Amino acid sequence: MTLAELYRELDAIPAPDWTPGAPFREAGAVLRAVVERLRAYDPELAEEAAGLLGLEAGELEALLAEAYAGELGDRPEAERFALLAALRAYARGMGREAEGEDARCPVCGGEADVAYLDEEGFRHLVCGVCDSRWTVPRIACPYCGETRHERLRYYPYDPHYRLYQCLTCGATLPAVDLREAGRLDLPSLRAAGVEMRYLLETQRVEG
Ligand SMILES: [Zn+2]
Ligand SMILES: [Zn+2]
Repeated sequence: MTLAELYRELDAIPAPDWTPGAPFREAGAVLRAVVERLRAYDPELAEEAAGLLGLEAGELEALLAEAYAGELGDRPEAERFALLAALRAYARGMGREAEGEDARCPVCGGEADVAYLDEEGFRHLVCGVCDSRWTVPRIACPYCGETRHERLRYYPYDPHYRLYQCLTCGATLPAVDLREAGRLDLPSLRAAGVEMRYLLETQRVEG
């Protein structure tokens, strides 16, 4: 199973209706579904996340609330990955076209994790939690507002993808150009983003 296929499988996990502030009903079942998908992709990663399945429902709900608040910094990476995937199962239903100004999602308050350029070249951000989309200027870093072009870089990757990097705040933003790719495929874009960040970190992408 490729990473894009894993993201696609995770995006197909159903969850009870949820709105910010409401309890995460059936959190154990949703997380179990996430860990099952993880197991098909990477048994070791699944094993590291499986400890979450032993938690009481209340503890699990509290962790999902922390994931929603972006406060999972001290959890192991496998657990963070699983909790974010579970949170997305609840939040995806809220995803819609919206109006925003920066990397903060105007719908759920989460943070954009990927972007796309539409047929006219406008840049849209996509929320990493609920998949809402909104337009932002291409000339500024959406995470910190930097506009000096010598502080903003982008690296082409394949014909369709690019990775934006801001030297001021350190943020990176994977994007797909729909004029090349044709349609928006979020699981593939997110998988390409992991690859692009890895290549950037290991200095194999040339700007
Ligand atoms: Zn959102
Ligand atoms: Zn920045």
